[in-house]
Amino acid sequence: MNALIEGLNYINGTWQDAVSNARFDDSSPNNPQDVIGRFPASTLEDVDLAVKSAQEAFPQWKATPAPERAKILIKVAQLLERDKASLTQEMTREMGKSLVEAGGDIQEAIDMAYFVAGEGRRLYGQTTPSELPNKWAMTMRQPVGVCGLITPWNFPIAVPSWKILPCLLAGNTIVFKPAEDAPLMGQRFVEIFAEAGLPKGVLNLVQGIGETTGQAIVNHPDIRLISFTGSSETGATIAAQCGAQLKRVALELGGKNACIVMDDADLELAAEGIAWGAFGTSGQRCTATSRLLVHHSAKARLLDLLLAETAKLVVGNTLEGADIGPIINPTQLKRVVDYIAIAQAEGATLLCGGHQIESDGYFVAPTILDGVTPTMRIAQEEVFGPVLAVMSFDTLEEAIAIANGVDYGLSSAIFTNNMSHAFQAVEELEAGITYVNAPSIGAEVHLPFGGVKKTGNGHREAASQALDVFTEWKTVYIDYSGRLQKAQLDNN
Ligand code: ADP
Repeated sequence: MNALIEGLNYINGTWQDAVSNARFDDSSPNNPQDVIGRFPASTLEDVDLAVKSAQEAFPQWKATPAPERAKILIKVAQLLERDKASLTQEMTREMGKSLVEAGGDIQEAIDMAYFVAGEGRRLYGQTTPSELPNKWAMTMRQPVGVCGLITPWNFPIAVPSWKILPCLLAGNTIVFKPAEDAPLMGQRFVEIFAEAGLPKGVLNLVQGIGETTGQAIVNHPDIRLISFTGSSETGATIAAQCGAQLKRVALELGGKNACIVMDDADLELAAEGIAWGAFGTSGQRCTATSRLLVHHSAKARLLDLLLAETAKLVVGNTLEGADIGPIINPTQLKRVVDYIAIAQAEGATLLCGGHQIESDGYFVAPTILDGVTPTMRIAQEEVFGPVLAVMSFDTLEEAIAIANGVDYGLSSAIFTNNMSHAFQAVEELEAGITYVNAPSIGAEVHLPFGGVKKTGNGHREAASQALDVFTEWKTVYIDYSGRLQKAQLDNN
């Protein structure tokens, strides 16, 4: 029996309860009787304290040379490596993804920490000639100020790492709110920064519920930037609120990712990749493969292979080694089950799964729906569950039109051995990411991550592009001519 964890906020370098002492429970979706702990249900008062602490820490942190800031990130990477095994166990217990995938989540943060630390010795600006003599022109990056980072539960260390690490490297200070479905992972991550020697006040943790704590962060006048990953509904609300405050906002929202399989593809490879892309993390990834578009002539064979791959997956308690774990909570479970019923009511045929599994946790069998047409809700809306909608096509043009015929544009994939098909798809798929001969998941930290259309608002996470979110450009003109020179006038 594990002891109940009494979680705390971390403000100005001190672990503390919410001012109101209110708390919320955190339990395992593998078995909701397994209560992990209780965490502060923070209010505006706590957010205020965190913002003040971040404001006070900002000048000193901004003045710390970026290579020095980077040293702390290297320490963070090392501590994550040290704790990877225990964090993996805790993550699987808290949010239910398989142990293998939880280990990958932490590895992503380790990779990100080493990568971003390297940026500490780059953080490049430009120098460029001035149009006037004896004058220099250049650009440099500067931090934005106090940033509010709001993250989801499905990548409870990796997604916070995509935000916190570049945000810190750039010299900002932070108010961080992890998801209420994975507060322990948020706390563990912040503990690592504290142990790594991050100065007090630079990273503040405020646990709580989205509608209260999250809203207090979004609407706080002294927070200059919001970086949010979560549902499109919440993202749209946050974007509107930030717009009204003229606050910088970076959004990473939903997906409805398609995988195209041509008749010239390696179908065994495609089947294996699609099962992994559609059902890993129980489909609860924003890049999950949720639509399979298969060429008519390859369909029967691919579906046979895919059903065989799916049948191999063990669904159940991931702490006991299952491949496919639970849905995160009862609300989301109902949503997934409802979507399967809606699809069938609209004419789709169930090939496998389609039901909740009788057990203590919130398990849904991997589900494949055939006979889907592009306008059905199951072909248009994000389910966030282990549900794959199958459609077929005759030409690549038709497949690309179906793939692009949704509001979202995060990830996409094509399996083909024809180079022309591959490049046509790369050029024409409306998505931030396209994989060739790999499923729609598998981002690497040194490449930009993000989507087009309603998946976001034009920003990218990870890679050096993340710095574009967390910095302002300062343009500098240095005139050493000793006289007044007038741009646009003197040379014309
Ligand atoms: P998900 O479906 O991934 O849980 P949500 O958008 O509900 O997506 O939640 C993602 C994060 O956003 C969580 O940390 C949650 O607490 C927070 N959140 C939810 N609603 C709001 C809101 N109205 N304002 C600010 N943050 C919110």
